[in-house]
Amino acid sequence: MSGEDAVRREVSGDVRVGGSETAPVELRGAEDVYVRAESVAGKLTIFDPEHVFTDVPPGAEPADSDGVRTVLTGDLDDGYVDAADGDVFVTDAEDVFVEHGAVETVSAVGAEQVFHDDAASPTRSPDDYEISVSGWQRNRSVRDPRGGVSVRGATNELTVTDARHDLTVYVAGWGNEVRIEGQAVEVTVYFVGRDNRVSVGPYVTATTGAESGFDNELESDPLPPEALVERTEAEAYRGAFFGRHKVTYQEPAPGKEWCPNCGETADAVVARKQRDAFFLFGKPVRTYDSGDGAFECEHCTAFAIGPVELTPAERKRILE
Ligand SMILES: [Zn+2]
Repeated sequence: MSGEDAVRREVSGDVRVGGSETAPVELRGAEDVYVRAESVAGKLTIFDPEHVFTDVPPGAEPADSDGVRTVLTGDLDDGYVDAADGDVFVTDAEDVFVEHGAVETVSAVGAEQVFHDDAASPTRSPDDYEISVSGWQRNRSVRDPRGGVSVRGATNELTVTDARHDLTVYVAGWGNEVRIEGQAVEVTVYFVGRDNRVSVGPYVTATTGAESGFDNELESDPLPPEALVERTEAEAYRGAFFGRHKVTYQEPAPGKEWCPNCGETADAVVARKQRDAFFLFGKPVRTYDSGDGAFECEHCTAFAIGPVELTPAERKRILE
């Protein structure tokens, strides 16, 4: 397969193609191969892989492998293609993961299966994201990243806390876990691979942009009913210290899977309650009228503060 004057380098463990190798480069016999965004200047040709998961449309003609100048082989674990000046050939790999914009054209010859979904593309290259986790069983936590986060490799864990800016999440590989918690942000997720899981907190809106692969999961925590409580009963009474007052407050309405007001399936249903009473030291001592008002849920609430995660103290401050 390789040219006669190719340099053959025996490597063991994980191998990285970093741009110093004379191209064309052949990576032979790695288990999983990860081809990073913006990495290959020439063409990418993959011979006899099991699965190819690619965010670059496959189906190009294979490049001519006669002129291969560098062969990386040996007792290899995984391969990471981070930079290459010309064509890259991947031979005898198990799974190959090709990120968005990794290369102009991809050719997969003899693949058992090729997965590609061109439903949508990330607006910025995953190479430009502020946070990138790459490798095996890495663990990282980051607060409020801007633009995007990417995970490349297998069984990594990335936790985003306190996200306050919309985010692209790019996951290439298998068995990775990403958790996003934040407030009033939108997250778009791209999967290139299999068995990855992204979960988001209740105040994060998440959608899948594209999935080039299978068995990836995107899960959202349900919104707790407390998030729609503008004023609790205790807070309402505190404001009615002495004399006759008409107070309103909200309570979570347990056991409701849909909203009696708007009819939607809902995670958070609250009941608006009211009481017209005479108060003494913040306690109702005589009630003239009381009753349950309307129900409302996250879809039809008039409570304009959601979907923002507020501590009780913050909520109180806003209402004062
Ligand atoms: Zn409703």
